[in-house]
Amino acid sequence: SYRKGGYHAVRIADQFAGGRYIAQRKLGWGQFSTVWLAYDTSTSAYVALKIQKSAAQFVQAALHEIDVLSSLSDGADMNSKCVVKLIDNFKHTGPNGQHLCMVLEFLGDTLLRLIKYNRYKGLPMDKVREICKCILIGLDYLHREHGVIHTDLKPENVLLVSTIDPSKDPVRSGLAPILERPEGSVNGGVTSLIEKKLKRRARRAVAKISGRNNSIGGEMEAPKSERNIDGIDVRCKVVDFGNACWADKPFAEEIQTRQYRAPEVILQAGYSFSVDMWSFACIAFELATGDMLFTPKVGQGFSEDEDHLALMMELLGKIPRKIATAGAKSKDFFDRHGDLKRIRRLKFWPLNKLLIDRYKFSESDANEFSEFLLPLLDFAPEKRPTAQQCLQHPWLLGIESTANEMRNESNVEKVDVGMSNLKIKVGK
Ligand code: ADP
Ligand code: MG
Repeated sequence: SYRKGGYHAVRIADQFAGGRYIAQRKLGWGQFSTVWLAYDTSTSAYVALKIQKSAAQFVQAALHEIDVLSSLSDGADMNSKCVVKLIDNFKHTGPNGQHLCMVLEFLGDTLLRLIKYNRYKGLPMDKVREICKCILIGLDYLHREHGVIHTDLKPENVLLVSTIDPSKDPVRSGLAPILERPEGSVNGGVTSLIEKKLKRRARRAVAKISGRNNSIGGEMEAPKSERNIDGIDVRCKVVDFGNACWADKPFAEEIQTRQYRAPEVILQAGYSFSVDMWSFACIAFELATGDMLFTPKVGQGFSEDEDHLALMMELLGKIPRKIATAGAKSKDFFDRHGDLKRIRRLKFWPLNKLLIDRYKFSESDANEFSEFLLPLLDFAPEKRPTAQQCLQHPWLLGIESTANEMRNESNVEKVDVGMSNLKIKVGK
């Protein structure tokens, strides 16, 4: 992808925006962009630099993302909003073309990484609650104050906020930024050693300042003892507004990443804010169990969409006929009685039973968590609670918290169910 129209190749200490930003280390990447930790020489702070691919459609997407993010960041105190803040944007010309760049506040690891560090066993329920609360505050801000639908909510697009705030004070965090490349450190020989050294130093810097004592793979693997998040006040923010839209101007029919996609999107029956609430419920389940809620697959004689609908019904009961048959694509999947055409036998396994049987939740934990999640997974989009309503839910307010904490002790020891075996066999 590092070719014309694609990603811009960045090396440590590369300069951007006339020397204002200096690249320190790669933080992540997505379909559209690479994201780098950069040092902002004009404010002496660390920032995240999102460098978009250069082809026309990516430029368009970036312009749109800048548009949405500036309207979200405009005049608001973004610290309390649980949505990433846009600091600056500019164009950067490189060998692969012209790239739009966004300067964002620097955040920590994605929720996906957090789930990985916990070896896909799920987080303690009090952490799940804290994270859920943050995401809901973010969604409430988007939905109610800006009329924006995120449309791609998933663990990769929710980032942790570090507990110390390194972006404000790199000096106090004990790390000097990398400002220059040593002379001649381009390729090979001694210079590549310097390169390696620089990279290692930069990586250590990120680990330290992102408050991350944990990382997947490579040299960054932290000792097990440091990998738990007990006692940390977990906060997070929603990122990646490349696909976000204003509810009164939806522009894409197929939205959301497969596993987090709402039924009305599969059926093409129109959508609104409540698609984010569906994805949110999927994320909450994944945080608590380590497994994705739905992992549909193509099978013999049925499509991924059909498997997805079948999995939803096995967990949540049959889709009411009126809803099942109301979408532009309904006829592809359902007969006129509202039964799936190609998957005839469903194996019902209600959520609270799943939590107890597979994830060894106590009965009361399972029931409380299900009571929180099930309304969000209503097949009728307009019946799903809003983010604002969700924030009032007793499960989040931590009523009976002592009792819950005692129960959670027993939650830590969960059966290792691996990554993707939540799939419930569908009879043909
Ligand atoms: P894309 O639109 O290409 O998916 P994202 O905005 O999702 O781009 O960013 C890609 C990845 O870069 C994220 O999953 C995350 O790992 C990292 N990232 C994005 N924004 C930040 C940020 N503000 N601070 C730290 N890392 C970030
Ligand atoms: Mg992304």
